[in-house]
Amino acid sequence: MNAALLDDLRTTLGAGAVLVDDEVTSRAAGFMQTDKLQATVLVRPRTTQQVAAVLRLCHASGQPVVTHGGLTGLVHGADATPADLVLSLERMNAIEEIDPLQRIAVAQAGVTLQSLQEAVAEHDLSFPLDLGARGSATLGGNAATNAGGNRVFRYGMMREMVLGIEAVLADGTVVSSLNRMIKNNAGYDLKQLFIGSEGTLGVVTRLVLRLREKPHSQDVALVALESFAKLAALLKHIDRALGGGLTAFEAMWREFYELMTTPPALSKPPVPHGHAYYVLVESMGAEAERDSARFRAALETAYDAGFVADAAVAGSDRERAALWVVRDDVMQMNRDGMPFIFDVSLPIFAMEGYVGEVRSALAVRWPEHRCWVFGHLGDGNLHLVIRAGTPDAETRSEVERFVYGPLARIGGSVSAEHGVGLEKKPYLRISRNAEEIELMRTIKRSLDPRNILNPGKIF
Ligand SMILES: Cc1cc2nc3c(=O)[nH]c(=O)nc-3n(C[C@H](O)[C@H](O)[C@H](O)COP(=O)(O)OP(=O)(O)OC[C@H]3O[C@@H](n4cnc5c(N)ncnc54)[C@H](O)[C@@H]3O)c2cc1C
Repeated sequence: MNAALLDDLRTTLGAGAVLVDDEVTSRAAGFMQTDKLQATVLVRPRTTQQVAAVLRLCHASGQPVVTHGGLTGLVHGADATPADLVLSLERMNAIEEIDPLQRIAVAQAGVTLQSLQEAVAEHDLSFPLDLGARGSATLGGNAATNAGGNRVFRYGMMREMVLGIEAVLADGTVVSSLNRMIKNNAGYDLKQLFIGSEGTLGVVTRLVLRLREKPHSQDVALVALESFAKLAALLKHIDRALGGGLTAFEAMWREFYELMTTPPALSKPPVPHGHAYYVLVESMGAEAERDSARFRAALETAYDAGFVADAAVAGSDRERAALWVVRDDVMQMNRDGMPFIFDVSLPIFAMEGYVGEVRSALAVRWPEHRCWVFGHLGDGNLHLVIRAGTPDAETRSEVERFVYGPLARIGGSVSAEHGVGLEKKPYLRISRNAEEIELMRTIKRSLDPRNILNPGKIF
C-alpha cells in the first residue's frame, strides 16, 4: 500500500485504528483456517462516517478493500492478499435500540449474533436467526452472506429478518436505507442489493432487524427412522400436525449420528445406533403444556403410521440442550484434520439418490473415504463433510466435481447458505445462467466501477 494512503488513514481514523505488519499477519485468516491473514494493513473504524472516509480514500487511490466481520464464513469470502486493505467491523459493536412495541432492533454491523440474541431476550423477544457460529459471526456478516441456520423452516433466512440497512458504497457514499416497516413498496428494495452480496457491493454498517415474540415453549425429540422415504413422510406429517409450530427438522445420516455420539464426542446416543436416519425435531410455541401434548401426539401418530422406529423426547431444558448438542458438535468431524465441507441444496425427492451417487463416486476413487451427511432437511439444504485422499487443493477440486457435478442435472444449488466467496466461484455456472451472471456483473460495475470491494470474489 502506498505510504501517502497509510498516512491519510492514520490521520482520518487515529493511529490506534490502523494496524500494520505483524499486528495484522499474526491474526488468523478465518475461523476454520489454519493459515494467517495475508494482508499487511487492517483498519478498525468506529462509525459509519469513518467507514465512508476509509472508502473515499481507497476509491481515490484504487486500493482493494476486504471487509471482515467475525471471520466464520466457510467459503473463503473474506480471504485477503498482501495487496488488500482489511476493513474490520470489530469496533462497530453497539446495539443502539431495542423497541419491544414495534419489535425491531437497530445495531451496528459488528455486533455478534449471540449478543443480539441475548439482548433481545431480556425484553422477552427473540431474533430467530441461529447458527453454530453465533458467538463470533456478526450481523453484518450474516447480512452479507444471507445466513440461514437452524430455524429457516419457520422464520426464513437473514433476508427475511432485515428491515433496513445502512451501507457505504465503494466511493464512500452512505446509503442510509434504515427502513423500520415490514411493508414498504416505495420503489426498489435497496437493502436486498447488499444482502448476500458478500462484501462486493458495499460495506454494511448498521441494520434494522425484525424481532419476534419470544417463544415460551420448546419441545425437542431425536427420532430414528429406517428409510429416507419415512424421513420425508415424517417432515410432512409433523409439519401438518404441529400447525406451523415446527421450528427445526435437522436430519442426520447414520454415519454422522454415530460420530456425534461416540467418544470423544460430547454426547451419548439418545437412541441406539444402527438405524438408517435420525432427525432432531423441534417445535416452539406459547403454551408449554398444550404445545408439549400436541408435540407428543404428533410423534405418536407418526409412530402408529410406521414412520418412526425409535424416539427420545426431551423432558427438561437440560435434555433439550443435550439433544441439540448431538446436532451441533460438528467439530468432531475435524478430529483427524480439516475435512472438505460442502453446503448444497436440492429438492427433497432427489436427496437420497444424490447422496448415493456422490458416495459411489467417492468409493470408487477413494475406498477409504469418510462422508458425513446432515442438514436442514426442511429447507432442502444438505451439508456433506468429506475426508478423502490427501487434504490438498488438488484433491479438493476432484471431490468438488463429484459433489457439484450432479447438481446441474438435478436443478440444485452449489451454495444453499454459505455463499460463493472464492471457493464456489468456479462452479457458479452450475446454479446460475449466463444472463444472471451478466446482470450480477452489471450491478457490480455500476456500484463499484473501480472494482475495489472484495475483488475477485463470487465471479
Ligand atoms: C461452526 C459454524 C457453523 C456455521 N453454521 C452456519 C449455518 O448454519 N448457516 C449459515 O448460513 N452459515 C453458517 N456458518 C457460516 C458463517 O457463520 C456465516 O456465513 C456468517 O453469516 C458469517 O458471518 P461473519 O461475521 O463471520 O462474516 P465473515 O466471515 O467475516 O465474512 C463473510 C463474508 O461477508 C463479508 N462481510 C462481512 N461483514 C460485512 C459487512 N459488514 N459488510 C459487507 N460485507 C461483509 C466478508 O467480506 C465475506 O465476504 C457457520 C460457520 C461455522 C464456523
